[in-house]
Amino acid sequence: MVEATLAIIKPDAIKAKNAGKIIDRIEKEGFEIIAIKKLHLTKNQAEAFYAIHKGKPFFNELVEFMTSGPIIVMALKKENAIKEWRDLMGATNPAEAAENTIRKLYGTNKGINATHGSDAPETAKVEIDFFFPDLQK
Ligand code: ADP
Ligand code: MG
Repeated sequence: MVEATLAIIKPDAIKAKNAGKIIDRIEKEGFEIIAIKKLHLTKNQAEAFYAIHKGKPFFNELVEFMTSGPIIVMALKKENAIKEWRDLMGATNPAEAAENTIRKLYGTNKGINATHGSDAPETAKVEIDFFFPDLQK
């Protein structure tokens, strides 16, 4: 099924000037970028976006990291986009990510890991709406 997912290039990847390489890879792997923008999350926005992780030991660290610099958010479209993008990113922990995945190539550790991807159809919809409320899907 052709579907959409939300991808984020996180502050670490932008600071390291890896955003262009990641976007190039996204295109080469056959995703269509249906929406894209660069922004700097406020603390409130980061807390709202990651609300599902509220209460976890890494929550404050995650919010601090995600507000530490600009991010690039994209809505991506492809057959099985949600799984395909998570496969292309690799495991949350770059040390455990498969060779040639984005997190293996550009991630630093379990928190600072270059990219985000939605994990299910419901979360993809909520996350795309969070950043692109006017997008026609
Ligand atoms: P994923 O991004 O692979 O879906 P999660 O949804 O579990 O992973 O976590 C969201 C984000 O929170 C991760 O991408 C990472 O930046 C951060 N994170 C997750 N687990 C940890 C941890 N144990 N320590 C620090 N940061 C973490
Ligand atoms: Mg997740």
